[in-house]
Amino acid sequence: MSYTRSHQLFINGTWRAASDGATLPVINPATENAFASVASATAQDLDEALAAAQGSSKAWAALPANERGAILIKASKILANNIDAAARNLSEEQGKTVAEATGEYKRTVETLEWNGVHAERLCAASPIDEHRTIRLEPAGVVAAFTPWNYPAVLNARKLAPALAAGCSVILKGAEETPSAAVHIAEALHQAGLPDGVVNVVFGNPAAISTHLLASPIVKVLTFTGSTAVGKQLAKAAANNLQRCILELGGHSPVVVCDDADLAKAIPAILEYKFECAGQSCNAPSRILVARPLYNDFVARITEAAGRIRIGAPDDPATEMGPMANARRIEAMQRLTKDAVDGGARIQIGGARLEQPGFYWPPTILTDVPSDAKVLHEEPFGPILTVAPFDDIDQAIDEANATEYGLAGYLFTGNSEAKEALVNGLSAGAVSVNFLKGVSADSPYGGVKQSGYGYEGGEQGVRGFQNLKLVNELPSHR
Ligand code: NAD
Repeated sequence: MSYTRSHQLFINGTWRAASDGATLPVINPATENAFASVASATAQDLDEALAAAQGSSKAWAALPANERGAILIKASKILANNIDAAARNLSEEQGKTVAEATGEYKRTVETLEWNGVHAERLCAASPIDEHRTIRLEPAGVVAAFTPWNYPAVLNARKLAPALAAGCSVILKGAEETPSAAVHIAEALHQAGLPDGVVNVVFGNPAAISTHLLASPIVKVLTFTGSTAVGKQLAKAAANNLQRCILELGGHSPVVVCDDADLAKAIPAILEYKFECAGQSCNAPSRILVARPLYNDFVARITEAAGRIRIGAPDDPATEMGPMANARRIEAMQRLTKDAVDGGARIQIGGARLEQPGFYWPPTILTDVPSDAKVLHEEPFGPILTVAPFDDIDQAIDEANATEYGLAGYLFTGNSEAKEALVNGLSAGAVSVNFLKGVSADSPYGGVKQSGYGYEGGEQGVRGFQNLKLVNELPSHR
C-alpha cells in the first residue's frame, strides 16, 4: 500500500525504520481510510533507545540548566514556524478541526518555551541555612507514554519539564497520531538537542511499556491515558521502584446554581465540552442544574447543541469533527443504549451519523438512572448528562459520586455557594464561571482514580527531579 506519509522511530538522533521493517497503518477518522504508516519498534529498537537515553544522560544532566532551557526556547520557535503544516497533519490523524489542532500547537509551543525560560530558576539549589542546601538533580531516564487525543501538547507537557530538569527521555507516542511526536522531536533536534536525549518509539503499547519498565535504566514513568492502563503501568513500575506520574481519566461535573447566567454558562459549557469531539480527560460530562432553572436549561442547551456544525475537520465552517477511532463510537453506542435501557431520555443525538467517518453528534441525556454506566465510566466523547439538584449539599454529593477526581466546574455569583462547592468538589482543579484546562505555567493533576503527580508549572518540573540534602560544615572547625 502506498501512503502519503511514513513516520519513523527516532533513536540516538537518527530517524529510522524498525529493525524488522514492521509498520502500523494510520487511519484518517474522517474517512476511515489508512493514509499513513508508523514504524513499530522491536525489542532490539527499544534496547537501542534505552542505551541511547542512558548514554546521553550524564552529559545532558551536567549541562547548565540555562543552556538546556535555551534549546527548549529555540525548539519552541522552530515549532512555531511549522504550526500550519503540523496542525494539518494532526487534524488528519486525530479528527479534530484544523483550528483546534492549531490551538493545541500554540499551547505546545508555549509549553516548550515556558519550561525553557524557567529551567534555570527551577533547577537552582536552595539554602535552608548556612550549613544546609537542597540541590535539585535530574531524576534519571524517563519513559513517557502519551495518548491520541491531545498528542502535541501532552508530548510537550512531558518532554519539556523532563528536559528542563536534565533528564533523557524515551517517548512512546500514540500510534494513531504519530506526527506530533515527530514534529516536536525534529524541532528539538534542529534546536541542537544532543543525540540520545530524546528518543521516540511507536508500536505495540503493552509490549513497549513492559520492555521499558523492566529496565533499571528507566527511573521515572509518566503516563497519560485511562485509569485501567495507568494501574497496569504502576504495577509494572513497582518492580524497579520507578517513580510514577499518572494523568488518568476524568468524569467532570458542572454545577449550575440557581443564580447562574445561562446565556453565559451554556455557550461556555458547549465550547469546552465539544472541543476534540468531547475526547478530553477534563471535558465536562455531568451537568447538575438547580431545579428552578432545570427545564429552561435543558431546552436551551439542547437547542444550542443542535446548532453545532459537524463536518470534515479541514472545512473552516466545521465546529466539531469525527471521533478519533472506531473504539470511541462503540463506547458511545454502548453507554447510550445502557442509559436508555435504564429509562434515560435522549434530548438530542444518540446515534452515529450515517456517513463515512467516526461521526457521533452532540448527545444530551436526561432522566439518567443513577446506576447507568454513563454516570460512572469516563464517557470520553460528546455525551452530556443533565440532572436537577435541590440544594448545594446534594449537588456536591452527586458531583463527587464517581471514582474520578480530575476537574470540576461551577457557575454562580453567590460567594457562599461558591465556597461550599470549591471546598466540596473532589477534584484536582476547579473553575468558577468558566471552563479552564491545562496551561504551561500552572500545575494540573487528579485525585482519587484520576491519578497522582502533577504536570505543568513548577510542580511539573519537580516530578523529574530528585532532592539532595547537602549538610556541610567548614573543614577548619
Ligand atoms: P486504552 O486505555 O487502550 O489507551 C489509552 C492510551 O494508552 C493509548 O494512547 C494507548 O496507546 C496507551 N496504552 C494502552 N495500553 C498501554 C500499555 N499497556 N502500555 C502503555 N500504553 C498503553 O484505550 P483507548 O481506546 O485508546 O482510549 C480509551 C480510554 O482511554 C478513554 O475512554 C479514556 O478513558 C482513556 N484516555 C484518556 C486520555 C487522557 O487524556 N487522560 C487520553 C486518551 C484515552
